[in-house]
Amino acid sequence: MQAAFGLTRRGRSHTSFRAASTVLFLAASGAAPVVGAQAPQAYPAPPAPPSDGEPLLSTSAMDESDHAQCVSELASKKVVFEQPKEAAREGCRLSAPVSLTSVRTLFGDVSLPAKPTMLCSFGLKFTDWVREVAAPMTLAYTGQKLAEIETGPGFACTARYKAEAPPSEHAKGDAIDVVSFVLADKHRVTVKALGPLVGALRMTACGYFTTVLGPGADPQHETHLHLDMLMHGGTANYRICE
Ligand SMILES: [Zn+2]
Repeated sequence: MQAAFGLTRRGRSHTSFRAASTVLFLAASGAAPVVGAQAPQAYPAPPAPPSDGEPLLSTSAMDESDHAQCVSELASKKVVFEQPKEAAREGCRLSAPVSLTSVRTLFGDVSLPAKPTMLCSFGLKFTDWVREVAAPMTLAYTGQKLAEIETGPGFACTARYKAEAPPSEHAKGDAIDVVSFVLADKHRVTVKALGPLVGALRMTACGYFTTVLGPGADPQHETHLHLDMLMHGGTANYRICE
């Protein structure tokens, strides 16, 4: 069952950057330009790709000034990151993303070995959550500092899991999958095991992200927490948290 509810934003306000995202679906059969004056003729549909479903193309980028402001805020918060000119994967393109390496927190640096790639606006949101919640709560629950967060690649050219669904927020650089939290003593707290720390972090994530899916939500999320910033309606107050 899908439990969706509204959360009211509270506390201090985060500077928000609006990601200008454009997502296009190109049906394979409609993508070929018609050349010449001949009557249009039916083109045979190209063979379907093995299992990926419809070919899709998505491009995503932030407004230039928002991006500059975001990058300087990320740097001022001592996040270590790279700035590739663009990232392109299997038909999806992300302009001026950031690839996160580590996050400075009051309890030490938290590294992100997968170097996840995303829009800067999402990077700011995710690293705020790591600094403000994940690091202190890990110490509180385990007595150990949070050393590492194992994640997916962030940006990925994937559709959502349902048939004929629009591209997932991963295709727009607006999502990340969190797989485990590695403590200073190398102990790995997996999302899959769904212990008290993961349960608590999952609850807090609902205050930062507009979509939080994890074990129990559906079969695709048994091993990780999916966090994204998809707008479910007109405002960010309507959130999916399951
Ligand atoms: Zn995901």
